[in-house]
Amino acid sequence: MRLISYQSETGPRIAAAREGTYIDLNRADASLPTNMKAFLALGKDGLSRAAAALAKGTPLDKGSLKLLAPVPDPEKVICIGLNYADHAAESGSEIPSQPVVFSKFVTAVRAHGDAIILPKLSTKVDYEAELVVVIGLGGRHIPKEQALAHVFGYTCGHDVSARDWQKGSPGGQWLLGKSFDSFAPFGPELVTADEVGNPGGLDICLRLNGQTMQNSNTKQLIFPVEHLVSFVSGIFTLKPGDVIFTGTPPGVGAARKPPVWLKAGDTVEIEIEKIGLLKNPVVAE
Ligand code: MN
Repeated sequence: MRLISYQSETGPRIAAAREGTYIDLNRADASLPTNMKAFLALGKDGLSRAAAALAKGTPLDKGSLKLLAPVPDPEKVICIGLNYADHAAESGSEIPSQPVVFSKFVTAVRAHGDAIILPKLSTKVDYEAELVVVIGLGGRHIPKEQALAHVFGYTCGHDVSARDWQKGSPGGQWLLGKSFDSFAPFGPELVTADEVGNPGGLDICLRLNGQTMQNSNTKQLIFPVEHLVSFVSGIFTLKPGDVIFTGTPPGVGAARKPPVWLKAGDTVEIEIEKIGLLKNPVVAE
């Protein structure tokens, strides 16, 4: 199943794809929740009820839909740094012996089509294509062998990064460099894990104004999805709708000679096999 969140007059609502259209799940079955986190908390029961609702619902007018990020309000936006060996090398970092974890504030979340805003406070804003994991049922101390059962599905993500704050400011402030408003677009669709299959074999690429800048496969991940879910759940409780940005492959702008920084008027597209295409324009603050 492929799910979206969209903006209605009464707030965010969820819908699922059926033959090129979207069906509002709560309109088709009033016992289903209207928001994604509540839906994810239902686990497998929610999915089977959604499948029944999907079959009988009336399509929404796709042209007028205002998409939101599939989880517009995740409790946690968890990010993994340096998770591709060749990206660690290009950024002059050692291959980590355990996952490097940071986070973004929820105010950074944006949808497919929303603008990435270049902050006045940065002159070195970079792009990073990432596979994003969306947690279904939460938990603490999740064993690696059970970790994929806690993954509801996957979507495309963009870990927009102000390098002058991430690396240049005193202390190397990753949180600040990664958390400017609009620095966490993800979507458009949340694709259920059963439709994706193995998350460790997906082609992932990023195009800047149509030119391919990153082109890799998630089989290159140093720490695969099950390792990441298990590892972070040893530190904090995962909740339904938490998202994990799993790291970026090589080809980022900072590693190029000369470096490439995002500028107003750019368009960034991130495409992941079986999952979708996330496209965002870039504007000045
Ligand atoms: Mn990243």
